[in-house]
Amino acid sequence: MKAWENLQRQIVACDRCPRLREYCQQIGREKRRAFADWEYWAQPVPNFGQAPAPLLIVGLAPAAHGANRTGRMFTGDKSGEWLYRALHKAGFANQPSSTNRNDGLKLHACVITAVCHCAPPDNKPAPDEIAWKAVVSEVRRRDWHSGRVPVFGHGAKQSLLGGRWLLGSYHPSQQNTFTGKLTEPMFDKIFAQARQLIDRNS
Ligand code: SF4
Repeated sequence: MKAWENLQRQIVACDRCPRLREYCQQIGREKRRAFADWEYWAQPVPNFGQAPAPLLIVGLAPAAHGANRTGRMFTGDKSGEWLYRALHKAGFANQPSSTNRNDGLKLHACVITAVCHCAPPDNKPAPDEIAWKAVVSEVRRRDWHSGRVPVFGHGAKQSLLGGRWLLGSYHPSQQNTFTGKLTEPMFDKIFAQARQLIDRNS
């Protein structure tokens, strides 16, 4: 518990990437007109949830006017609406909506993190593969799997040491949801599968 809280504090205080830090603060000063009365978070966004948890969701990076504004992962943008709706349906969240840090949202048995904790300019890194590759590299570093890992794809799946599983999902960005590349049933299926795997192991 203490180690987790220390990690969270270290993330928020981190300034290792001056370019990203400057960009997040600039966005916080300029704001989007619709959020003119918001005090943007504009700091690195900590993980959401309480570790240890059986489900770890690894996103890409906070959105400039989403989590960089609200200070909570996937909170305040369209991707978050998709994610929390799906998590709620699968029993990983107490409510389907997520608007600000005081909206009462609680995660059950689930932690949300991101490869990058600061909003990057032009929403890069954009490709979903970046999150997949970062997790695969961490899996190898921890010796949880040494063999082949499937290329990234929606529904890509790999068993790991100790009953763990790696599941791939398209990001619920508007680029994917507006074009139909990712539909709600496709997204829900990933979390239903996570739920089944966790329940089977417990
Ligand atoms: S992206 Fe990560 S390492 Fe870079 S400043 Fe933000 S929290 Fe620190």
